[in-house]
Amino acid sequence: MPPLSRPETEHKISFSSEALLAAKTDVLVVGAGPAGIGAALGAARAGANVVLAERYGYPGGAATVALVMPLMSAHTQEGRFRRSGQTTLYPTDHGEGQRVIAGVLMEIVENLIECGGAVPPSLETGYVVPFDPEKLKITVMKMLDEAGVDVLLHSFAFGLEKVDNISTVFFHSKSGPIAVQAYCVVDCTGDGDVAALAGAPFEIGRVHDGLTQPMTLYFRMVGFQRPAFMEYIKRHPEQWYGVFGLWSLIEKATDEGRLKLPREDLLMFATPHSEEVSVNSTRVLNKLAIDVFDLTSAEWESRHQADQVSEFLKNYVPGFENSYMVQTGVQVGIREGRRILGEYILTGTDVLEARKFPDVIARCAYSLDIHNPKGKGTRIERLPPGESYDIPMRSLIPLNCDHLLTAGRCISGTHEAHSSYRIMPAAMATGQGAGVCAAICALNQIDVRSVDVSEVQKELRRQKASLD
Ligand SMILES: Cc1cc2nc3c(=O)[nH]c(=O)nc-3n(C[C@H](O)[C@H](O)[C@H](O)COP(=O)(O)OP(=O)(O)OC[C@H]3O[C@@H](n4cnc5c(N)ncnc54)[C@H](O)[C@@H]3O)c2cc1C
Repeated sequence: MPPLSRPETEHKISFSSEALLAAKTDVLVVGAGPAGIGAALGAARAGANVVLAERYGYPGGAATVALVMPLMSAHTQEGRFRRSGQTTLYPTDHGEGQRVIAGVLMEIVENLIECGGAVPPSLETGYVVPFDPEKLKITVMKMLDEAGVDVLLHSFAFGLEKVDNISTVFFHSKSGPIAVQAYCVVDCTGDGDVAALAGAPFEIGRVHDGLTQPMTLYFRMVGFQRPAFMEYIKRHPEQWYGVFGLWSLIEKATDEGRLKLPREDLLMFATPHSEEVSVNSTRVLNKLAIDVFDLTSAEWESRHQADQVSEFLKNYVPGFENSYMVQTGVQVGIREGRRILGEYILTGTDVLEARKFPDVIARCAYSLDIHNPKGKGTRIERLPPGESYDIPMRSLIPLNCDHLLTAGRCISGTHEAHSSYRIMPAAMATGQGAGVCAAICALNQIDVRSVDVSEVQKELRRQKASLD
């Protein structure tokens, strides 16, 4: 049965309903992904009452829902490149870097390491942190409990009304429509759903054709025998580069009609468990994350691809003979949705030239990393060695709206800049910045544009964020 596609003629049917008022709060954070976690903790620790609302049954966003299991590096890159044949299952092209993201991210990493849920960042891992998503869920839940954040799960934001300075956000739920009222709202939905409802302007995809980065359904393979895989790579060093490769085997399987993938290599990461890898190798093109019909067909296509890739691993790749796919993401992973236009639009040049801003609320040193929206290949462009760029507060303040902030991958930036700041450590950092700003806004009954950014920076430093 093929997935339902968009009807050719639009026929709209009206409905009306009343919503149960679930809570009134200082700060409402919508979306409990990396950005929402940072925002909720940042706001609560700055003294605000916080409600964190999420459509799924646990926090983590792409980190848990989509099984994106390595936190990308929070360090600068030093540009000492090692070439092919690295057998690490970690990225290999970082020298000894400086950490530029701390705060909530580092607390989570430390808590994960303490419970055996993450591989400590080091030169050997390229400062990437593979983690166990189940440990991440419980770690974050404990931190939210400790900070006194009220959590509302299974609630999907679909409407927004603003009267004077109070915003009411409406959610679909099993109890019917429910509402939460707040003085300041932080949109951490990844796709900017709330900001779009509030009337903020946005862009999606590349300037010239509107195409976004591909979607990918991540999955976990267990029963992996690392020594056999490493032995194969030792014999064929040209076939593996840190976390990707296997070009010849892919070609062979494609020629034999057993694999049909719009990418030329396999990308996979180590996890904290020695007999497991997480596989980031499906690629779904030409779909928009804000279109339910596209999402439906992306789920269909990516699950067929995942099945093929896991069979390919078992049948062609040494070390995977007795492995099996134990879990796929709850949903296909979304790299790129709406980019909500704000008071400043961060550009690819700002990233590559490591630009600094007086209203910095977070930093990042990750490359431009654009998976080809049209098929094979990935464009990687690095910052100069040892450098990082600033993310300004203004990129979190949507145009045409007040008492509203964005954080995470939906902040204001171009398609190119987005490909860098979309990583989870940066999303947590912009989340923490937005949360602190929202708390100051609510506690002083002022709009986000009236908040003194030096107050936000002072509180962020108190919360051990890295701004300097
Ligand atoms: C395939 C893939 C590979 C990636 N690889 C890496 C990597 O290796 N390392 C890395 O650091 N980053 C990686 N990223 C990027 C990273 O995962 C995301 O950019 C990051 O998670 C963004 O965080 P976020 O909180 O802004 O959004 P998300 O993680 O998308 O979280 C958004 C949250 O909001 C919720 N939500 C959405 N809409 C609504 C609504 N209307 N109402 C209520 N809740 C809602 C969602 O359920 C989700 O929990 C990858 C992404 C993908 C898709």
